[in-house]
Amino acid sequence: MPSPSERPRQSRGSAFKAAYVSAMLNAALMAMQIVIGLFAHSDGLVADGIHTLSDLAADGVVIAVLFLGAATASGRRAAPRDGSFPASLASLFIGVLLIGTAGDMLWHCIGPAAILTVSATVRASALIVALFVMFAKEALFRYMRAEAHRTHSSILLASAWHARLDAFSALVATLGIIGSMAGLPMLDHVAAGVIGLMILRMGYSNCWTALKDLSTRPLGNTAGQ
Ligand SMILES: [Zn+2]
Repeated sequence: MPSPSERPRQSRGSAFKAAYVSAMLNAALMAMQIVIGLFAHSDGLVADGIHTLSDLAADGVVIAVLFLGAATASGRRAAPRDGSFPASLASLFIGVLLIGTAGDMLWHCIGPAAILTVSATVRASALIVALFVMFAKEALFRYMRAEAHRTHSSILLASAWHARLDAFSALVATLGIIGSMAGLPMLDHVAAGVIGLMILRMGYSNCWTALKDLSTRPLGNTAGQ
């Protein structure tokens, strides 16, 4: 039975573990989605793979925030508020990256090049990967939500709900692939476009939250970071 002073440390350990599990899973899923997506000619799957790459970057931010929180709690940092400054900057950087990625993806899906290229029918391997990603993300959501409740970590809970949104994104990719296999190759393009819009929205909200956090911070509070 841990003493009351040991409990926060154990919670942090569990929160770290959950964030690492998410990062490992995202790295594996991203590689699988991009490689099979390119091989099977599925724009939707490649788009979702790029989305997973941004999830991996977001996992990095979560781990950094948890690390800084742990450093603050153990007295190595002055104030918890200062600890979130690099996290806000990282979050802003990821937001800008997401907006750029989404813009490029949407241009690829609905720009003049998309209309000129007739998409080849997507191969069945893409469907298997998209379905696997959907179930993996749903399992990750359930695991992270349980860990977030157990450790009272709000950042982990936000991350868990993001994983549920990712499961939905994989569902969109799956539907596009099924459509393409059923003789409507355009549906895979549409799925990639929808995923592009979801990434754009995520990038926008990342930037907005980070800018709000950075602008409410008094000047000079960043010294020593
Ligand atoms: Zn995501």
